[in-house]
Amino acid sequence: MNDPKKRLLGMTLPELKAMAVELGMPAFTGGQMAQWLYGKRVADIDEMTNLSKQNRERLKAVCEVGRMDPVDCQRSADGTIKYLFPVETSSPTTHHPSAKVETVFIPDGDRATLCVSCQVGCKMNCLFCQTGKQGFEGHLTAADILNQIFALPEAEQLTNIVFMGQGEPLDNLDAVLKAIEILTADWGWAWSPRRITVSTVGIRGKLQRLLDECDCHIAVSLHAPSHELRSELMPAERAMPIAETIELLRGYDFAHQRRLSFEYIVFEGVNDTLAHARAIVKLLQGLDCRINLIRFHQIPDVPLRGTDDATMLRLRDYLTQHGCFTTIRASRGEDIQAACGMLITKSEK
Ligand code: SF4
Repeated sequence: MNDPKKRLLGMTLPELKAMAVELGMPAFTGGQMAQWLYGKRVADIDEMTNLSKQNRERLKAVCEVGRMDPVDCQRSADGTIKYLFPVETSSPTTHHPSAKVETVFIPDGDRATLCVSCQVGCKMNCLFCQTGKQGFEGHLTAADILNQIFALPEAEQLTNIVFMGQGEPLDNLDAVLKAIEILTADWGWAWSPRRITVSTVGIRGKLQRLLDECDCHIAVSLHAPSHELRSELMPAERAMPIAETIELLRGYDFAHQRRLSFEYIVFEGVNDTLAHARAIVKLLQGLDCRINLIRFHQIPDVPLRGTDDATMLRLRDYLTQHGCFTTIRASRGEDIQAACGMLITKSEK
């Protein structure tokens, strides 16, 4: 049986150069491949026309670009599009050839944001999240993460990328950092890291590495200002309490180009009182950050309800008046289950 072809998508410049040399080509051919793959987003080795025909044939014998088109798409009345992408999960114990993830394209005036996934399912098991209910099925490779961007029909329109889809980025940090390196390197897609936001619950040891190794914006899933309440909503709080996360964040500069935000889904009668708002102000005092209040989108079998608009406005105003710049995030794609916390894909096992 022939070995499966290696996927060029997801390889860094040094990896592409090493591949070129291994196949008997000059190392600079790796740089040309990077330009075709990431600068010009070609889907086929034959499109790399400044490689000699002989070199293209050598490359095609063992490699492929590895782009995989979405297998399904749903369009919301508000213009949001949810794509279903096939992936090759990297963990051999959880490998499912049929694994898929959801990716959400959100056009908004002159902005267009893509919400990408980094795992099939998630281990974090947040009470309010469909992906958490799905459980964990595997890590995406850097190629799988990049494929959601490079095989997107609207890739040219993108202005922002957020790692807020399925999975916890810090739990698959090597692949996430590798994808970000390829997106932001001069030899890669050459995007500014300021157009990329990584969202996280906070994981000890990993958050510091993320902050040290990339310049992207950071969004922390807060959802509750106290250890007790956050533990009930998010089991990850027991492993890394929010107070520890905040202390760590205080050691970094968010006053200039890099932005820090806190995501706060508002649940009726759970985390939506002025006492909660006061606790948030106290917790975040002195940090350069913004808060995004998010409406809860009802999911099955979860005893939580979204709060009403008047309470959302009251919270926003209190927080803003007390020094925390706060916005209410518009809900997008709810009619196609593409909104925050609603993504779910089960493999056909
Ligand atoms: S909210 Fe994020 S971290 Fe929590 S279960 Fe869902 S995908 Fe995982």
